[in-house]
Amino acid sequence: MTYDDIAVALIVGNWKMNTTVNSAITLANAVKFQIEDQFRHEVVVCPPYVSLHSVSETLRGSNIAVGAQNMHSETNGAVTGEISAEMLSQICQYVIVGHSERRTYFSESDLFINLKLLAALSADITPILCVGENLEDRDSGLAHDMVSSQLEANLNGMDLDSKIVIAYEPVWAIGTGQSASPEIAQDMMFHIREILADLVGNRSEAIPLLYGGSVNEDNIGVYVSQADIDGALVGGTSLNADAFCRLVANASRTER
Ligand code: PEP
Repeated sequence: MTYDDIAVALIVGNWKMNTTVNSAITLANAVKFQIEDQFRHEVVVCPPYVSLHSVSETLRGSNIAVGAQNMHSETNGAVTGEISAEMLSQICQYVIVGHSERRTYFSESDLFINLKLLAALSADITPILCVGENLEDRDSGLAHDMVSSQLEANLNGMDLDSKIVIAYEPVWAIGTGQSASPEIAQDMMFHIREILADLVGNRSEAIPLLYGGSVNEDNIGVYVSQADIDGALVGGTSLNADAFCRLVANASRTER
């Protein structure tokens, strides 16, 4: 295998509501130290809002990008406690939109998520749109329908020539240690690719599709070797610098 046989995988760490400013800087430094220039991957870390600036300063000049975990759809105004894409655009390159925890705990609707995506793109931030079915949908054979309906509503009116990333995260696999089998993940990714192909034709191939749900350094390889999986969105494992960097190292996608 030569260096050129390795395709670039996109690995995104979602730190969720973990780390203080100080521990976020320590974690970012540890990841930077181990990853910098060693592997041919795109790596993004998503700390809490309060640490975004410090982490982006810590990672300045490295090959690790920074993302936010959420944003509001409005540019500015009387929306106490919220952060706009315009504000984020000065400190990060990515933003996670529609994570299942936001959909569930904060009742975020498909329409709101659609507006956030449009706002992120107009502020030149790459949105990472999360979609995925819950266990009930899967058990009732409705997983594909659920994901189609989220995608159709969330992507409504979007110019998919813009840079966007889609993460398939089955809700039942997030933080549970019960990752989806590679077959289930690939089957859904193929479905997503078909939906995208209906919207944008061949250009759908250029949209990175990430799998998320209990990914770790031991199982990342089987996901990124699937035909339609381009990387992973990682929660728990991204909080441990050593484990996260091993995960990144194990994410080399040999020719598929
Ligand atoms: C996530 O939060 O998006 C996630 C996939 O979490 P975990 O890796 O812990 O399952």
